[in-house]
Amino acid sequence: MKILQQLNDIKATRALIKEWHQAGYSIGFVPTMGYLHEGHQSLITRAAAENDKVIVSVFVNPLQFGPEEDYGSYPRDLKGDQQRAAQAGADLLFAPTVAQMYPEGFETFVTAYGVTDKLEGATRPGHFRGVTTVVAKLFNILQPQRAYFGQKDAQQVAVIRQMVRDLNMPVTIIPCPIIREADGLAKSSRNTYLTAAEYQAALSLSQSLKLAETLIQTDNIVAVEQLKKAMTACFSSIPLARIDYIKIVDPISLEELAVITDSCLILLAVYIGKTRLIDNLLIEGRGYTKKEE
Ligand code: AMP
Repeated sequence: MKILQQLNDIKATRALIKEWHQAGYSIGFVPTMGYLHEGHQSLITRAAAENDKVIVSVFVNPLQFGPEEDYGSYPRDLKGDQQRAAQAGADLLFAPTVAQMYPEGFETFVTAYGVTDKLEGATRPGHFRGVTTVVAKLFNILQPQRAYFGQKDAQQVAVIRQMVRDLNMPVTIIPCPIIREADGLAKSSRNTYLTAAEYQAALSLSQSLKLAETLIQTDNIVAVEQLKKAMTACFSSIPLARIDYIKIVDPISLEELAVITDSCLILLAVYIGKTRLIDNLLIEGRGYTKKEE
């Protein structure tokens, strides 16, 4: 196993990055809010396979939480994160404090428009402004060639790509597949909030996505309203679940579809008790006609 270094200080981190650049090392970067699980580790493993050095950041970013959200209670375990990051092949854990990232007088924000006004952006105003601002800062501090993001947060990938394209940031964004529990639940640091009964209820997210996949690919149902109705019905017998949204969109523009004619991305956000969970499934182009081919 590689030796994992941990740095909190921005100046010291920049000095190390400078050394790495001078040595000609390529740098892969995995931004996280910590409480690492196998989903995060899959990103780190991929980054380790494709780069000489891998940096994992652990920073619970207050800017991306709404006032009613779980910033204060978000799970934190830096010791466990060190172990899991090292195990997956990271070289550096960068874990700055809020005061280091947002010192007094901090007044600059990065905002992507358009792609941020729907889905998560509609329910969580200001969320993506927090994400783009912190990721832009982290890119500037760490100067990676490649940055790895999970498709679990599909809209986040689209937003980051927009920012990188619009601001000519010299970094390649690499999306990575969703890692799930054996029972289908997408791994998430927030799963730790769930009671046993809520965990069972949470399985309905991935089950409803599976159902939509079957309806599209096996039954050739392409009418979005019909698919959304069938997905909604998966939650009708689950009192612990409250749907925030179920959307079927174009995977690139994230615009809602009425009829599926090619690839589509199915996304949902559901409150299970007080915990808000998200999940999604990409149906690749023409997958729904597989039966006839
Ligand atoms: P977070 O710590 O929740 O901000 O997540 C950090 C990164 O890990 C983001 O790019 C997430 O999309 C990604 N991630 C979180 N959960 C998963 C998962 N189950 N599978 C793949 N990537 C994930």
